[in-house]
Amino acid sequence: MTNTDTADPVSTAAQVVALANAGSQLVRITVNNDDAAKAVPEIARRVVDAGVDVPIIGDFHYNGHLLLAKYPECARTLAKYRINPGNVGARHRDDNFRTIVKIAVDHGKPVRIGVNWGSLDQDLLTAMMDENAHSAVPREAKDVYMEAMIESALRSAALAEETGLAHDRIIISAKISQVQDLLDCYRRLASRCDYPLHLGLTEAGLGTKGVVATTAALSLVLAEGIGDTIRVSLTPRPGGDRTEEVFVAQQVLQSLGLRSFAPQVTACPGCGRTTSTFFQQMAEDIQGYLREQMPLWRARHPGVEEMKVAVMGCVVNGPGESKHANIGISLPGTFEDPKAPVYVDGALKITLKGDRIVPEFLEILNDYVARRYPG
Ligand code: SF4
Repeated sequence: MTNTDTADPVSTAAQVVALANAGSQLVRITVNNDDAAKAVPEIARRVVDAGVDVPIIGDFHYNGHLLLAKYPECARTLAKYRINPGNVGARHRDDNFRTIVKIAVDHGKPVRIGVNWGSLDQDLLTAMMDENAHSAVPREAKDVYMEAMIESALRSAALAEETGLAHDRIIISAKISQVQDLLDCYRRLASRCDYPLHLGLTEAGLGTKGVVATTAALSLVLAEGIGDTIRVSLTPRPGGDRTEEVFVAQQVLQSLGLRSFAPQVTACPGCGRTTSTFFQQMAEDIQGYLREQMPLWRARHPGVEEMKVAVMGCVVNGPGESKHANIGISLPGTFEDPKAPVYVDGALKITLKGDRIVPEFLEILNDYVARRYPG
């Protein structure tokens, strides 16, 4: 999801393009006011002009019924609408929801009903809490909260179908910020409906905590075969790169063996046998090079995303790990001969020496990609 001001079509289109080039297959933008809704067609045009083909999804809260009705070009341009049933207005909740769904039907768009732990329908929650308080065997409040999330999603889906949206045009999500709660919630959802489910640990947080919590949550749910699309929600550092979310999402799927997006680098952690930073720098340079090449390689060299590259620190595990990869290099550890054997498809191809080891290895890598994944 972008974090630019949607009313600024130049920066928003640039971020959509960056996210898509990083490998995102769906990009969501917030549509929060008139200027944002007016900017949507220009954003889409700019993205197409940049040669990028990615569905752009509109995220609506509070005023989606008004914006989509007032700006039909926005409604027509977006590939999907996300509606949060907790944020469609208190007094006319169902009417507002129906208005959005009717517009989706008229434009042939799918809708994601996105319930969120932080903005749950308070009337529904209060009613369910009251009912629980008067029951003979009251459940824990958290259990009722979870049920309220599921009820909100399923009641909204039923209302959408009553309003004319086809069953197969509805996607559901119920995002929570705690890992075990997310698993519990999605298990319940998956057992009670056959709508495609969008997964995400909402408000995962900053840095390592955000990445680890997201990975733990998505892995637990995906490993049970639950989930059709995913989103990673990281709080970026000021001026940080928004594409980090995409790389984390891809890495989760690729580590689980569910999808392949980019060549994987196997690198050892280093130890006292690699006291210089040369090995760390080389591993980072190769990882960065692969990432930079992927937008081009993805189009020209189908299958390259399955490639495995090993960058190892010394002879202890270097040659062995290199043989398991498509292409691998084992650098000289401290006190070893200054030589770096390169293995290609399990066989020793060449031993590199001197200060051009990295560019020479990248040349071998490029030749391998062109030959092995000709397109
Ligand atoms: S491969 Fe060598 S440098 Fe890397 S962790 Fe193992 S022993 Fe240490």
